[in-house]
Amino acid sequence: MRRTRIIATLGPATDTPERLGALMDAGVNVFRLNMSHAKHDWVRRVVADIRGLARARQVFPGILMDLQGPSIRTGDVPAPVALRVGERFHFMVHGAPPPAGELGTTVNYEGLVSDVRAGDTLVVDNGGRKMRVGGVTSAGVACEVLTEGSLGSRRHINLPGVRVSLPALTDKDRSDVALGLEVGVDFIALSFVRDPSDIALLRNCLKDRARPPLVVAKIEHQFAVDHFEAIARESDVIMVARGDLGIECPYEELPIIQRRIVKACARMGRPVIVATHMLESMIQSPLPTRAEITDVANAVFEQADAIMLSGETTVGRHPLACVEVMDRIARRIERSGGANYHVEAELTQPRQKLVKSAVLLADELHSAALVTFTWSGQLPRFAAALRPRTASIHAFCDSEALAAQLSMLRGVTATVLPSCTDDPEGSIEGAVQRLKARGAVKSGDSVVVLVPHGNTQDRQVDSIKMHVA
Ligand code: PEP
Repeated sequence: MRRTRIIATLGPATDTPERLGALMDAGVNVFRLNMSHAKHDWVRRVVADIRGLARARQVFPGILMDLQGPSIRTGDVPAPVALRVGERFHFMVHGAPPPAGELGTTVNYEGLVSDVRAGDTLVVDNGGRKMRVGGVTSAGVACEVLTEGSLGSRRHINLPGVRVSLPALTDKDRSDVALGLEVGVDFIALSFVRDPSDIALLRNCLKDRARPPLVVAKIEHQFAVDHFEAIARESDVIMVARGDLGIECPYEELPIIQRRIVKACARMGRPVIVATHMLESMIQSPLPTRAEITDVANAVFEQADAIMLSGETTVGRHPLACVEVMDRIARRIERSGGANYHVEAELTQPRQKLVKSAVLLADELHSAALVTFTWSGQLPRFAAALRPRTASIHAFCDSEALAAQLSMLRGVTATVLPSCTDDPEGSIEGAVQRLKARGAVKSGDSVVVLVPHGNTQDRQVDSIKMHVA
């Protein structure tokens, strides 16, 4: 069993039913749809395919819609533009063409002309190209190319240190959120979060749903690092989005920021994703570099809930091999121990302390399984946050939507068992039978069961049971 969850971003390399099925079989827990590139019809098709394939396999992978957010992007170009050092290149606003005979593209952000001035540096395409601003007019920004290469469509532009005046949730994001609610995604990630009010804006769009998608805050900006605690308190999940973070902040700070965020998430009980460039060389190569192996191993050692593939599975040549590499590294490193940052977990609710007792008991017994019944996801979330040493967490619920939301939690396997939350006590035997059938426990194993008794006369009563399989 692997505890660390694997997220695969979908794209042309992986979006057929055959490839989606193969990724599921290889152990992908969450599929990510990057709305900087995805079209709405594509999202509708891919979500229907994932749900159908998952139902046939009786697994419940999550679907994460990643909003573009206040990100500055270049427009579409018919073919990648070759850039040479010293050449002039224009970023045009209002859809204007570049001056005759000169190179350029459009940008989606009119405020660019007021946010930059001569001498500033623009970082384009995930840090791949640097350009120095030479002049600004109301029609666009003229730059000198500092790094040679080619520039394709919808490339991201970073303005390190500049607070871009795009709204936290753009019109495009709002229309993407409406689509996410229509197709029933399990998580929505907000890009370039700057402070907690950005999260509140997104929550406000989701509030009418009985089980709204969980909100993922992408930390990819110095402003988000500065407001991290307040942002994390408002969010359900945190993503260390190292692609942009490594451009917006000095790159030597990146490992320190990653560790600080993972540690803070362990203290606050927030699931955390470590993302981007984990196996970047495998976009081309069938094998990872030694440095990539160590980077994945480090995130697993830090006991991040999830590790994420981006370009590796959207356009890479070896998407399936990337999942296998992550799976293999995660299983090995998990056996070797971990950072155990959870020892500083803040347990503010009596229910969290009860869950801690169950986790301690399960670890003490070298128990094969810690079983929870859940209708809100709270018990498995609390249990996962306490990082059991030996026991796997098996969450039984009666909703596929909840099972999919549990897919992000380290060490949690969700099973849909109809009516189990109406009568958790009476469902213990059925749950244990299911675990035996799939080889998760064997006869004679101790199983620790967290039984919620729900709200009776306004009093919540939970209990811990020890069961022998
Ligand atoms: C990142 O910057 O690391 C990231 C995950 O965001 P995106 O892929 O949307 O740029």
